Amino acid sequence: LKLNVANLQRFVKTAAAPLTVPTYPRGGSVKQGIVHIGVGGFHRAHFAYYMNQLMEKHGLADYAICGVGLQPWDSKMRDILHSQDYLYTVVERSAKGSEAHVMGSIQNFLFAPDDREAVVAKMAHPDTRIVSLTITESGYFYNEHTHELQSDDPAIQHDLDPANAKAPTTAFGFLYAALARRHAAGLKPFTVLSCDNMQGNGSITRSMLKTFANLRGDTNLATWIAEKVAFPNSMVDRITPQTAPADMVALAETFGIEDAWPVVTEPFMQWVIEDQFSDGRPPFEKVGVQVVANVHEVEQFEKHKLRLLNGSHSAIGYPGQLAGFSYVHEVMNHPDFDAFIWQMMQKEVKPLLPTIEGVDIDAYCHTLVERFKNPTIMDQLPRICLGGSGKIPKFIMPSIAEAIWATAPLRRLSFVAAAWFHYVNGVDDNGNKYELDDPMKEELQQKATEGGADPRALLGIRTLFGDDLRNDERFVKELTTALELIRKDGILKTLPKYLD
Ligand code: NAD
Repeated sequence: LKLNVANLQRFVKTAAAPLTVPTYPRGGSVKQGIVHIGVGGFHRAHFAYYMNQLMEKHGLADYAICGVGLQPWDSKMRDILHSQDYLYTVVERSAKGSEAHVMGSIQNFLFAPDDREAVVAKMAHPDTRIVSLTITESGYFYNEHTHELQSDDPAIQHDLDPANAKAPTTAFGFLYAALARRHAAGLKPFTVLSCDNMQGNGSITRSMLKTFANLRGDTNLATWIAEKVAFPNSMVDRITPQTAPADMVALAETFGIEDAWPVVTEPFMQWVIEDQFSDGRPPFEKVGVQVVANVHEVEQFEKHKLRLLNGSHSAIGYPGQLAGFSYVHEVMNHPDFDAFIWQMMQKEVKPLLPTIEGVDIDAYCHTLVERFKNPTIMDQLPRICLGGSGKIPKFIMPSIAEAIWATAPLRRLSFVAAAWFHYVNGVDDNGNKYELDDPMKEELQQKATEGGADPRALLGIRTLFGDDLRNDERFVKELTTALELIRKDGILKTLPKYLD
């Protein structure tokens, strides 16, 4: 049966596994307090999931979500949500089985290319109190090296032109136009809540929008934005792979639900948000969101996540793909990898991390291993490995740099870095070729060829690595040894040498 409001109770009666459907009011007097740009898999499994719980369990009625799509391909999401009364299914999978939850928190969807003015008007509506974003890193036009807005990008240039004020194309163009309208109408600004996976996501969004506003030349408005708009930083976590055709078949078979675009995710989820809102917020705490007082606290949680989760993902991804595996859980089922990941986290990463009150790092590590081993999520290694030049310098190298300072162990971390240095060549240990998916592909491959068994050519890339790494004898020696071993014997024969 097709997913829509009329069929909800029939699904409940016939489902062969646990299923929940929304029973709270939708539409009518319910206010759409949130406008979300970038309704992809992650938003639907994370923010919209928390909001669904607040509506179902706590009767929240003034924060329904209006989704917004800016990209041409978002017309697919528009069509599917329209045809399903804005309902969709989140399937939570673990080794114990699956559960399905039909979500009702998204109650509207605007596809910007259909009517750009309607999107500005929606964001400027008095009911809108939060505009949230999951627009991927590329949506921020953020230059990582200069920390500035890529203002010469044609899309930003288009939106900066006052002649296009009513037809923006980028998230900043829309945010600016809507804030300008609210300012002129004497309304409070909305909160801009970035939920993208970037360190300091709120601060980056603030800085980019501030620059955009200054370049538009209305200093009055730019000052109002800088002073009155809240941009909370947040740390988000829930592993959500792309939906596969088989997921739809499984949903129909087990739950009888024909959903044209469900989301499959893990049971775990986490969200830490800085408590900074321009005009109130939902009572997030009631559904397990960790609302913290300041940016410093968010940064500490972020550090744990980047070094332990993302760092381990790199340690699984690059060596795992070189060894010929396809999925995260397959790598973790290999006893040497299982031991390696645990020892890397415990012996090399954990000792460098701050203590956070109420957080048990060992329990966090155990949960991570369990999540990585979840055989039902089918998390593909190429997703984990994508864009390594943006990952290794953030997830692995900072631990190495701190270990250098503290004269702490760094052998395993060096092995992971060496595996990536070898990975960029695009050939695995069985001689199979793969495409290197990285914006720095050409430079990386050229340096890897130039260096051969000597990692110093790659380590010399100044936009990626600092002198603290390049000039440390102990680290360069470890990196060289690991790279030589990997090139000579492959990952699986080298790995045991890195285990206690
Ligand atoms: P997705 O491909 O399912 O959705 C991406 C959405 O972003 C789409 O709606 C797309 O139109 C929009 N988008 C892309 N580029 C844009 C741009 N330049 N301007 C405006 N909108 C743009 O991806 P997803 O899995 O939902 O992931 C989205 C983001 O969520 C990630 O980039 C990451 O920052 C964050 N995240 C994802 C996961 C995960 O496991 N998938 C976990 C944590 C955080």
